[in-house]
Amino acid sequence: MDFLEPHGAWNKLPAGKNTPDDTNYGDWLIALFDYWYDTPRGKLPVRKFEEIIEHLFGGRGSLESFGIEPVNLMTIAADGAYESVDCVKAAHPAAEYLGMDVFHNSLDDVLTHPMISSRQTGLSALADKCVQCDLVHICGGGYFAHRYSPENGFRNPTIYCADYAKLIRHIDSRVKRTLKKNAVSHFAGAQN
Ligand code: SF4
Repeated sequence: MDFLEPHGAWNKLPAGKNTPDDTNYGDWLIALFDYWYDTPRGKLPVRKFEEIIEHLFGGRGSLESFGIEPVNLMTIAADGAYESVDCVKAAHPAAEYLGMDVFHNSLDDVLTHPMISSRQTGLSALADKCVQCDLVHICGGGYFAHRYSPENGFRNPTIYCADYAKLIRHIDSRVKRTLKKNAVSHFAGAQN
């Protein structure tokens, strides 16, 4: 299961997000996380939370929405057109358009397109604010399709920056508290 935020851009905030700095979605996700985290074992996997925890422990993750690893997927539309990523069309009209298709271009050609190559180069493709952020190796600037502004294109933090910063710090603190508690009880048990 996953909980996905609505699409939006810096010039078109999604419903429920009144300003870039409010954390309505972050607070909602934190309440969900706490419910999920406090549910006894055998619980339903929630992709977003497991991904953040994996990144907190130095893992590479498997979603393109978090982390700075190169994306490993490409969209091919039903008419054979290569697209940067299908959801990016929510940013502005024709945002997904690369001008390449399976009849005239190889996959290697597509990898050279700036909309694709910029998602292969990790930190160097991110906004300055993200490069300097202490959460960048976990958040990675957020989902590509949610970074758009008419001024800077996709070189912005996600519009959910404030939400993710709050959510990631909350998950980090809860997981660390659990580890500390388990370490203390394990140590106490070893002494008995
Ligand atoms: S929390 Fe904000 S500034 Fe930090 S990496 Fe994520 S989007 Fe960028």
